[in-house]
Amino acid sequence: MDIAHANEDDKLKEYCGIIGVYLSNHDDNASRLAYYGLQSLQHRGQESTGLAVADGEKIDHFREMGLVAEVYNKEKLAALKGHIAIGHVLYSTSGKATIENAQPFVSRSKLGQIAVAHNGSLVNTEPMKEFLEETGSTFTSSSDSEVIIKLIAKNYKKGLERALTDTIQLIKGSFALAVMTEKTLIGARDPNGIRPLCLGKVQNGWILASESCAIDAIGGELVRDIAPGEIVIINEDGVLSFNFGEKTAKKTCVFEYVYFARPDSIMDGIGVLEARMKMGEVLARESAVAADVVIGVPDSGLGAALGFSKASGIPYAMGIVKNKYVGRTFIAPSQEEREAMVFVKLNALKSDVAGKRVIIIDDSIVRGTTSRRLIQILRKAGAREVHFRISSPPVKFPCYFGIDTPCRADLISANQDTEAIRQAIGADSLAFISMEGMIEALQSCEYEEEGAPRKSEPSRESNHSASGASNCGYCQGCFLGEYPMPMIGELGKR
Ligand code: SF4
Repeated sequence: MDIAHANEDDKLKEYCGIIGVYLSNHDDNASRLAYYGLQSLQHRGQESTGLAVADGEKIDHFREMGLVAEVYNKEKLAALKGHIAIGHVLYSTSGKATIENAQPFVSRSKLGQIAVAHNGSLVNTEPMKEFLEETGSTFTSSSDSEVIIKLIAKNYKKGLERALTDTIQLIKGSFALAVMTEKTLIGARDPNGIRPLCLGKVQNGWILASESCAIDAIGGELVRDIAPGEIVIINEDGVLSFNFGEKTAKKTCVFEYVYFARPDSIMDGIGVLEARMKMGEVLARESAVAADVVIGVPDSGLGAALGFSKASGIPYAMGIVKNKYVGRTFIAPSQEEREAMVFVKLNALKSDVAGKRVIIIDDSIVRGTTSRRLIQILRKAGAREVHFRISSPPVKFPCYFGIDTPCRADLISANQDTEAIRQAIGADSLAFISMEGMIEALQSCEYEEEGAPRKSEPSRESNHSASGASNCGYCQGCFLGEYPMPMIGELGKR
């Protein structure tokens, strides 16, 4: 566990970010644009990164452990020649952080090469793997994403479109995919749209990205989000879109808005910072308290703190400074030491909090360890009262869709009520946003075309929720234990 994870250890963790670039001029090099896109997606995964490029004839690829800025250099990018590129950044749990699991995966067959970059997590990996092994496939990694490329490769003789639709109908779970052949770039999103994927345009081509901030970084324009259940095929004929046939019911991950995504991204029509500010406004209405100053935990608590301040009229202040230069190599071996690293990463601004009644907003409480340390920091800096407000409801259940969550035993809200947590973290008061309040905040930010229905209105297609989760357009699995699809086998017993 490195120090960069010292306070992220007490957060849910994103698994991946993906990028795809298609340039219509075959002499242009897509790897450089993909590299800048990956830099903008670095927050989604810091363990490993990879790029695959196609020049119309063949696919080359490169994977390495480490950060995007550390892994690539001018020579490596120049060697990755081709007008099509896909790229990946990966966060994995420590047991899985190996080069074998780094993406994109590339497969060769008599019919050609395929590369796949996947964000998400499959819930039927084991039966699919068994099926593939029984029919002669071998695996080089423990990643579920390898199952996807093996299935596409197996079906490739039916043609690309059929191979994709057959594969996508076999796999269950969350997936945003960037797939590449020697001549084509493909994007796909699962029928619930749990993980994000958007389409952008650059002067001379197209971009697929987990977040629109990557499109901005390349100098492109966001065109639209890939719809749940949609496949887009990009080649010299342009962009072909089709639905792969399954009934769709949008269930986007709420935590993309609460915590994972960059505030400058727009996801499914919602500005991430705007959503966070709205959550703060709702929180202020639901759990008002007399105070002198509102502060946010950097970085993802800042938007909600601004919204809380605006709605309550209580002045906003910076309050906490984050050390952005904490190295990734320092090893903090014990839990106690990891917790203490919060002091290295975050510090209070005495001038903002001393002698004051402070409201501090964070995006979530997972284990509770960071919250306790933060309150210690504020009290040491002279805060008279510390009122903790959380812009997501209590996290009580694990995630099976690509987010690293502790098991239920380690989720403080699964085992303690709000008053017990307040005592454990040492706050003067504690309140979470309600489930209804969070959904209201998101829905109030949804972009509506004139005359078009709200995106979250129930579709005429059947609701995919196996357990009756309300069809609000967002996954609420980690709050309610009601997932967008049934859990298979051992899943759900965590
Ligand atoms: S269970 Fe929670 S973290 Fe996982 S996809 Fe659903 S909302 Fe996101």
